[in-house]
Formats: sequence, C-alpha cells, structure tokens
Amino acid sequence: MRALTYHGSNDVRVESVPDPVLTQEDDVILRVTATAICGSDLHLYRGKIPEVKDGDILGHEFMGVVEDAGPAVTNVKKGDRVIIPFVIACGHCFFCEKSQYAACETTNPDRGASLNKKDIKPPAALFGYSHLYGGVPGGQAELVRVPHGNVGPFKVPGSLADEQVLFLTDILPTGYQAVLNADVVPGSKIAIFGAGPVGLMAAACARMLGAETIFMIDHHQYRLDFAQQAYDTISINFDENEDPADLIIQHTGYRGVDASIDAVGFEAKGSLVETTLTTLKLETSSGQVLRQCIAATRRGGIISIPGVYSGFIHGFLLGDAFDKGITFKMGQTHVHSYLGELLEAIEEGRLQPADIITHRMALEDAARGYDIFNNKQEDCRKVVLIPGA
Ligand code: NAD
Ligand code: ZN
Ligand code: ZN
Repeated sequence: MRALTYHGSNDVRVESVPDPVLTQEDDVILRVTATAICGSDLHLYRGKIPEVKDGDILGHEFMGVVEDAGPAVTNVKKGDRVIIPFVIACGHCFFCEKSQYAACETTNPDRGASLNKKDIKPPAALFGYSHLYGGVPGGQAELVRVPHGNVGPFKVPGSLADEQVLFLTDILPTGYQAVLNADVVPGSKIAIFGAGPVGLMAAACARMLGAETIFMIDHHQYRLDFAQQAYDTISINFDENEDPADLIIQHTGYRGVDASIDAVGFEAKGSLVETTLTTLKLETSSGQVLRQCIAATRRGGIISIPGVYSGFIHGFLLGDAFDKGITFKMGQTHVHSYLGELLEAIEEGRLQPADIITHRMALEDAARGYDIFNNKQEDCRKVVLIPGA
C-alpha cells in the first residue's frame, strides 16, 4: 500500500510499504477514505518530538471503511463506515473507566521501557505519533491497523460526507474539550490564542455554547479574517499589536476575560534539558502565549491549554497566576467521551467543521500538503488527503 512516512525533519515521503495485518483478536483493518494533517503532526515534521524512526507512518486524523476485523470484534463489521479517535484506549482500565481515555494505562506499554522507569504509568498510545506514544503506525495511508476495535471505531451515518465528520477524530473534540475546560457558558468572554484548526474549532464550540465575546489572537491575518467571518470573533494581530493582553484588558473593563485558551502550544527554542520525572531530553519553550494568557485572564478565571507542551517553559509567571487565583486545565483530548454529542451537533447543523478546509489533495501529494500547512502558504487552514484520488 501507499503511506506517508517520516525520514527526518522536513522530510516526509509517500512510499510503498507492506499492508498492515491483524495481529490481535480485536484488531480492525481500515481502508482509509480521508485523512487530515494536524498541527500536532507539525511538531513531528519539525523534528521536535523524540523517538520517531526512519520510515514511521504518520497520521492520527483518519476515517474509512472496515476492511477486515479480528474474531473478537463485535462493535463493527466489514463494510462499516467509521471515524477513529486519535487516542488508543482499552476501555476498561482505571482511567478508561473514569472516561479519561487519553490516560489509558494499557495501550502504550513501551513508554516505561523507553524512559527506563518501568513503574511510571505512561499515557495512552496514539496513532502515528512516535515510539514515545506506542509506535503505532498512523493513518495517512491506504490501510491502517486499528487496535481495540471494540472501543475506538465510531460509526457515522451515510448521510454525512467524509469531510463533515472527519474532524471528530481529533480537532473538533479538542476544541470542544478546550471550551468545556474553560467553563464557557452563555455570556462568557474568552480569548483564544492561535487561529489554527484547533483555535477555530474552539471558537465554533464556544459560539455553540453561547459565548458573548471571543477575542482571537494570531499573526496570520487570513486566519483571523476567517475566524471573524465564520465565528464573529474580534481579531488581534500580534504583529501589529505589541501586547494582545493589554488590548484585551482595555476592552473588558480592565478585568480581563473569563477564560483564555492556548491553542498554540510549545514553540521549541533554547537548550535540551533533562527533567527529573523522565530521563528524556526535552526542549525549553518561550512561554510567551502562556504569559499573555495569564495577563489577559480576570481574577478567578481559567486558562485552558489544548496546545501541546513538552519540557520546560521560560518565564512562567506563577506569581501572577497565584495573585489572580487562576485555574489551569490542560492535556490530551479524551476523544471518545464527546463523539455522541458532537455528531448530533453536526447532524443538526450547529457545527460545520468542514468549513475550515482549504486544501483537498491526493495522498500522493501529502509531502506538499505538509509544506503548505507548515509554512502557512496559499492561505492554508487545513489539508485533507484522499488515498487513491
Ligand atoms: P497550527 O500550527 O495550524 O496553528 C497554530 C496557530 O497558532 C497558527 O495559526 C500560528 O500562527 C498561531 N500562533 C503562533 N504563535 C502565536 C502566538 N504567540 N500567539 C497567538 N497565536 C500564535 O496548529 P493547530 O492544528 O491549530 O494545533 C494547535 C495546537 O494544538 C498544537 O500545539 C497541536 O499540537 C495541539 N493539539 C492538541 C491536541 C490535544 O489533544 N490537546 C489535539 C490536537 C492538536
Ligand atoms: Zn491532531
Ligand atoms: Zn484503558
């Protein structure tokens, strides 16, 4: 089959690789009909995530049709059309039973070994996201093996086109969890840093939940313009405004917003450092967005962080956060928890996630898709790849 493989920073290629096979009784083999490139893939593409091996298949936002299923699979059958959560969960461990699927402690057994600390329970395995997260081949491919076929695959109705439901795999629940973590209710005033796909999904979900004012901060004017037109956000271009937080404070009665959402994540800079918790070498990040979130949020407010962080951040103003009594909520998305209600919102037209797509291309052109999305060329907001197109 054909698949998008990693060969070092800024070097991904579509190549012929062996077809996946069923290895566990509850595995599913999926024929991929649509797959997207995520901002999280860019951390891999930029070479910022350790333990990605030459030839690893990337991709964690994908959907398709069940091609084959192991004898223990009862949830789906050959021919079913499903979306696959990017988080691989077992459905029955300590964390899965609390619906904290991204913390599933059974699907990523290698993490402890790679950290040389076998007693530390790792978070869930992810598709196509390095050997830190299980080394599971990803779905930017014609076929993919889906472990835990009774837990992950989520059936979608034939009445909805692939692109209307594809983002249930990741960015839509991620935006939704971010606004739930931010306690958005009718009348809320919020700030969203980062008008990428995750920030845009957060804006869509915040509107759905009745937010009154949404400030959107980025420096790509075309992304800000889209957010303003689609979700009635107030644009702040940080290239033109030295301090977005200052502007937000002025426009909120000198209090700040109820919640800020950091949909940017780490911009790795600086030196490699070792942490005490892990033996991994992790990079430091500037922490600029988190500083602005703390400055822009009112006393007693919330900072919700869907953006991915790794390692240390510089200049984290814990004192200011303490002074304001800020609550922080963050982490990988518990995708499985939100699928039913989000599918219903799409079916009823309350959410139209496909609106953010700007590029649809054949899987064969995936390397160009990564380049365009990474460099924000051609006013790119989101790339969808179609195998076999
Ligand atoms: P993206 O790279 O397309 O978007 C990030 C946006 O942030 C860009 O438009 C960029 O211009 C903007 N930005 C950069 N610096 C900024 C700053 N200082 N202030 C304001 N905006 C700034 O990526 P995306 O797909 O939207 O993903 C965003 C983040 O969410 C990534 O870190 C990704 O890894 C993470 N993510 C997390 C989860 C999860 O489970 N928590 C799931 C999906 C994605
Ligand atoms: Zn993703
Ligand atoms: Zn589990």
